[in-house]
Amino acid sequence: MSLHVGYYGLSLFAGALVAGVVAVIAWERAVSSLGRTLGLLMAAVFTWSFAAAFEAAVPDTATKILLSKIEYVGIAATPVLMFLFARRFARSGSKPPWGGTAALWIIPAATIALAASNEAHHLIWSDFSPAGGTGEQLLVYGHGPFFWVHTGYSYLLLAATAVFLLLAFFRYKGVHRKQALILLLAFPLPWVGNALYLAGLAGGTRGYDFTPVGFAFSGLFLLWAMFRLQLVDIVPVARERIIESMGESLLILDEAGRVAATNPAARMLVAEIGGPAADVPEAKILGRPAADLFVSWPELAAGLQTLTASEREIALVRDGTTRFFDLRLTPLLGHRAFVTGWVAVLYDITRIKRAETSAVEARNVAETLREAGLTLSSKLDFKQISALILDLLKRVIPYDIGAFLTVEGAELKLAAIKRPADIRNLIGETYPLAGSRLCNMAVQRKRPLIGAINGPDDILLPLRLDKGVHSFLGVPVVFRDRATGLIALYNSEPGNFTEEDAQVAELFASQVAIALDNSRQVEQMEKQAVTDELTGLYNRRAFILTGEREVGRARRYQRPLALIFFDIDHFKDVNDTHGHLVGDSVLRVLTGLVTRTTRATDVVCRYGGEEFIVLMPEANREEGLAMAERLRQEISRMTVVTTGGTLTLTVSLGVAELGPEEDEKLEGLIARADRAMYQAKAAGRNTVRG
Ligand code: GH3
Ligand code: MG
Ligand code: MG
Repeated sequence: MSLHVGYYGLSLFAGALVAGVVAVIAWERAVSSLGRTLGLLMAAVFTWSFAAAFEAAVPDTATKILLSKIEYVGIAATPVLMFLFARRFARSGSKPPWGGTAALWIIPAATIALAASNEAHHLIWSDFSPAGGTGEQLLVYGHGPFFWVHTGYSYLLLAATAVFLLLAFFRYKGVHRKQALILLLAFPLPWVGNALYLAGLAGGTRGYDFTPVGFAFSGLFLLWAMFRLQLVDIVPVARERIIESMGESLLILDEAGRVAATNPAARMLVAEIGGPAADVPEAKILGRPAADLFVSWPELAAGLQTLTASEREIALVRDGTTRFFDLRLTPLLGHRAFVTGWVAVLYDITRIKRAETSAVEARNVAETLREAGLTLSSKLDFKQISALILDLLKRVIPYDIGAFLTVEGAELKLAAIKRPADIRNLIGETYPLAGSRLCNMAVQRKRPLIGAINGPDDILLPLRLDKGVHSFLGVPVVFRDRATGLIALYNSEPGNFTEEDAQVAELFASQVAIALDNSRQVEQMEKQAVTDELTGLYNRRAFILTGEREVGRARRYQRPLALIFFDIDHFKDVNDTHGHLVGDSVLRVLTGLVTRTTRATDVVCRYGGEEFIVLMPEANREEGLAMAERLRQEISRMTVVTTGGTLTLTVSLGVAELGPEEDEKLEGLIARADRAMYQAKAAGRNTVRG
């Protein structure tokens, strides 16, 4: 069998080559269904063109008819694939239902089958006659009735293709519109050739059919468009991929709010809200009012029902946890800004909300701590502070029972307590640190301790009767690296206290430590205000307060009260001889002696420069005189060693007893003792009068 290849056959071979290359490239680059459809289309054209080229080349009729039958696979498939390509392009992504696509193949399948079995019925070809003329021995086919069914169907699909592309052209903007234009130009091209063939023009009567060549060239055109305008991939694919893979739920609604398309995230959400199914097929959702899909989430249903460009925050409460979403509705604007549908996107903003909430919480805690610090530092009294600690802490850390204790050596002293049933007032009681394991640990490590209560030893002694206490937070109050106190918190829920609680508590405890130190300093200052700086004895002001109280008491209970007033003899000389500093230390040494000599209940006071008073509750004049005499002797026997040598001193003392006169006050008593002292001075000093 000899092959004869003429220009017609060559053009068909060239067409086949082009179609084949385009098919391979389109298929390889086919990341979308659109690209694959173009690949298939070109494969069909290749089959058609390649078989036709051989048909033109082979001489015998039987082979030509066999090759024609192969051609028909391509001929029948081409219009359908072209139509599918255009439809996919025009819809850009949304898949047609499978039933519809399968139905499109009924007539082409029948055409191929009938062509294959033409000998039996001649429905495709009625007769075959060799074409006249020279060159290639072409066969002219007489057409049977089904050929016209096939042709009519093909032109119907061509018309539909054109409609889709026109729609796309008017609907799209920018690069998509350009793509639509390219397709509009590319697809009719081969059909012109086909129409000419059918009309018997362009060599049709001689058996020439340039349709596959035309298709091959439109394929080339499309390939160019594919690269130049990214026709097949990138844009629609990227769009499709992004929408498919995005975590946000996306629903495309028609004008009436019915679902037109969804992404997997949206279907998951439907499954989650609607029922136990892990996923919901899109087909089950399409066409249903979007609001119906979320009946058990009324907030979302309402949002999807009111079709206006909007953005709203909605909450979803499921199994006790709340999730937050941002629902955005954007209109899809069609030609001349007509709303053709709606895009509803649901963003999960739970994490952002949580972060916001915890930031707000952190701010609240910081604010509460600041307030607590201010409140605590405004209080100077230890009792007031201890009472406040537990109340302030409760604002930031929830607890059932709380205690504030001071660390006194190896003991804890209860300063404040808060518990549901405060039956007994335990404040002031002490408990051995070793008796409470967890409290002890917290104090030892000087850092907050979270613990579980497993036995009675884990809980502080006074609280042991409280049943059902399961968690513990011990917060030591540390000042200058010393645990001076402990805040012990208990809760009935196991694991109630968190690491954050511990951190907050530690900050709080540092405020407490500062406040407590302030109060200690104030106590010190108050002490200084009542005592004399040089000797540590009561000063005049404090003595008058105490003395008046003693006078009142003595009167009320009709008890005796004696007062000794004494003044150092010639003290000026000590200063003059040894200097003021020695004078000062002499005053201190004397104070020590007086304090040791007098009774514990006596009140010793530095009344003036070198003048002292000893107030003796429960003592009468005789006892006062005896004490004065004892003091005189002790002092006169005292030697003070100084840098300037050893010195001795004497004092003159006056004694008075609170008189029976109702109106005598402390002042009068002091005045009488003072007068007696002057008598002692006058009597030659170093003596007692009264
Ligand atoms: P007399 O026996 O009459 O009491 O003689 P005197 O020198 O003690 O006289 P007077 O009581 O009038 O003088 C008190 C002196 O005590 C004056 C002052 O130098 C001294 N003096 C008072 N207060 C202090 C003090 O705080 N330190 C020292 N070093 N001296 C003081
Ligand atoms: Mg004196
Ligand atoms: Mg004096």
